[in-house]
Amino acid sequence: MRIPMSRRHILTAATTFAGAVASLMLVEPGRADDGSAAASNSQLKKQDVAYQDQPKGEQRCGTCKNFLAPSGCRVVSGSINANGWCLLFKPKAA
Ligand code: SF4
Repeated sequence: MRIPMSRRHILTAATTFAGAVASLMLVEPGRADDGSAAASNSQLKKQDVAYQDQPKGEQRCGTCKNFLAPSGCRVVSGSINANGWCLLFKPKAA
């Protein structure tokens, strides 16, 4: 059975993205003096994880295990709003 090129391309891209995300979950960058995550080449860009400055339902950065108060994130670069959200949201353990 032959897989169409477009499907193979999509599967390859999805696998690459999943691998990159898994690698990032294992890396914990340092903190800058202001408490935010230090800039890191291994962090993802906001646009790559559909970051938004508003919560998604009950999900928000302030309740995500990747959030670094007051305005950082272990896996996403830049200033992060505690009321923001992205595709990598993981709830903190209760
Ligand atoms: S929701 Fe996304 S941007 Fe916000 S803290 Fe979690 S991983 Fe970082």
